[in-house]
Amino acid sequence: MWINNPRNGSKSTIVNSLENTPVSRSTGNLLHQCPGCNNLWAISSYRPVAGDSVFFRTSPARQNGELTRVISDARHPDFCWCGVPFPGTTAVQVSQSFAVANLHAALRSALSLMGEKSSVLDEMQILTTKVTSSMLRKLRGERSDRGAAAA
Ligand SMILES: [Zn+2]
Repeated sequence: MWINNPRNGSKSTIVNSLENTPVSRSTGNLLHQCPGCNNLWAISSYRPVAGDSVFFRTSPARQNGELTRVISDARHPDFCWCGVPFPGTTAVQVSQSFAVANLHAALRSALSLMGEKSSVLDEMQILTTKVTSSMLRKLRGERSDRGAAAA
């Protein structure tokens, strides 16, 4: 759940510590409900050390009349699909802009893995962590020819 900070209009949420994350009795996995998007995760207690790898999912999309798949979600290990980190040794407060930055970094990694142009992400101002259809269009390279947008 994102909590509004009335002083500066930013949003933030709290990620529990590992200690306060419930453990499944049947599997022994940590049961973590992401405070950013409510996604439920079963996290193994024996996770390998997270490198700089990236996980991503693709969705079907139509490009020049042909059906292709485009990257629609990406995340780094120890992060949710929304960019909010998994529980660590201590509880942490996470701002929504931090989560969005994480999401963008993961999308960039995924795009570069796929050999696609990722600079377009820098031009976008995204207010939510949701990957929108217009974002997908931009990721697929369907951009206007306005040239580089001023920040
Ligand atoms: Zn999440």
